[in-house]
Amino acid sequence: MSLNRRQVLLTASSAGVLLATAACGGDSGGEGTIGIAMPTKSSERWVADGKNMVKAFKAAGYDADLQYGEDVIENQVSQVENMVTKGVKALVIAPIDNKSLNGVLQEAADADIKVISYDRLILGTKNVDYYATFDNFKVGVLQGSYIEDKLGLADGKGPFNIELFAGSADDNNTKYFFNGAMSVLNKYLKSKKLVVRSGQTEMKKVTTLRWDGATAQSRMEDLLSANYAKEHLDAVLSPYDGISIGILSALTSGGYGSGGEKLPIVTGQDAEVASVKSIIKGEQTQTVFKDTRKLAKLAVQMTDAALKGKKAKVNDSKTYDNGKKVVPAYLLNPVSVDKTNYKHALLDSGYYTKKDIS
Ligand code: BGC
Repeated sequence: MSLNRRQVLLTASSAGVLLATAACGGDSGGEGTIGIAMPTKSSERWVADGKNMVKAFKAAGYDADLQYGEDVIENQVSQVENMVTKGVKALVIAPIDNKSLNGVLQEAADADIKVISYDRLILGTKNVDYYATFDNFKVGVLQGSYIEDKLGLADGKGPFNIELFAGSADDNNTKYFFNGAMSVLNKYLKSKKLVVRSGQTEMKKVTTLRWDGATAQSRMEDLLSANYAKEHLDAVLSPYDGISIGILSALTSGGYGSGGEKLPIVTGQDAEVASVKSIIKGEQTQTVFKDTRKLAKLAVQMTDAALKGKKAKVNDSKTYDNGKKVVPAYLLNPVSVDKTNYKHALLDSGYYTKKDIS
């Protein structure tokens, strides 16, 4: 998969064309139509997920109706409602808000439509058949361990200053990422080898609604002016590349990265093009690569099994309790990427071309 910003836009518009085709009853995949509800086109990863899934569903004989909610909860609910009305065979959903779909999923269940929760878990309903995702706790562990390694914390170095950012509070993944990272970092906070000068250490104080980079940027600006006039910030735990880019803008406007003021370690997630470029430039330090091609394939396998009355392959039947049931899940492996291994992880695997990231 290779996407630069321009291609993202093109892909997004061809997704629109494809949608129109599906709605007009274009090529019919003999197995019926699958409704795919993704959260937003503003992040490359979801554009890639949608595109990869459409391709994989077509290859498996299905049609696909791909819709993006643009981070507006009501949009997504009505998109899914329309898919149910149109009689899709199954739904693959990455929810914007983890609990808003319960009503419409009851309608789906009444119509015997299978439901796959994609990347993010849908909560509060028994009407979810499978969960296709990455090991979300491990994503956080990779981010926390990266900070631990780079600062030399395990070798007793410190104290260092750190600030913490978490994702959107209404995304079930947020707590897994944050808890995974803190499972590594907490002991250093206790021993004071890591100091959070703002005092904002609890997850609910550091979440970022809708994973918005601008929101993170303005929080980082406030943190810098309130706490770092005289102190140097050594690390920032960031859960997602879009947030990392916002944080880095605040840092560079605050004088970091020039005049001998070294940029802090800044983590991330998704290996988005802007962040990979930033890593190559020596600004963002790390990201976590989640191969959306693999996730798309997994979702297609789960959907196909569910529709054919077979058991899908899962590797986790205990972690993802959504409040109504433990949703059988398959967790893919996330990979930590920085300047030292991006070529191997992202280019050799064919995820990006050299041109995409230069
Ligand atoms: C996904 C991440 C993504 C974030 C923001 C999370 O649910 O797991 O990969 O960075 O949403 O889109």
